[in-house]
Amino acid sequence: MQDLIESARQAQKLAYAPYSQYFVGAAILTNSGKVFRGSNIENASYGATICAERAAITNMIMGGERDIRALAVVTEDCGFPCGICLQTINEFTSDPNLCEIVVPSKSGFQIRTLQELAPYLWRSELVKKTK
Ligand SMILES: [Zn+2]
Repeated sequence: MQDLIESARQAQKLAYAPYSQYFVGAAILTNSGKVFRGSNIENASYGATICAERAAITNMIMGGERDIRALAVVTEDCGFPCGICLQTINEFTSDPNLCEIVVPSKSGFQIRTLQELAPYLWRSELVKKTK
């Protein structure tokens, strides 16, 4: 997991956060072993801002992958992903009980499963699909 955190740290250096100065980097490890990174990208409209986690997911999708095994996120205060990002991670993991969210801490890192962080997220099987 230390390698994934380091990858997230590299992504954090690329963050575009001129308004909040809150620089975030994320790195995804897919079940096939590939790593995809993202950083937060702010916008003057605020609403158009995208979190690092969802930027990494966008990169993962464009890389042809759709199954998140673990996601590391690096911030200045060891923050975990926001609710929108947890919901988006949930869309792209085959098992929320195995999907690990990794955040650095003073003693190393913390790991929580997606299920632990957000046990009542919407799953695609709950949504009625139309043809
Ligand atoms: Zn977020």
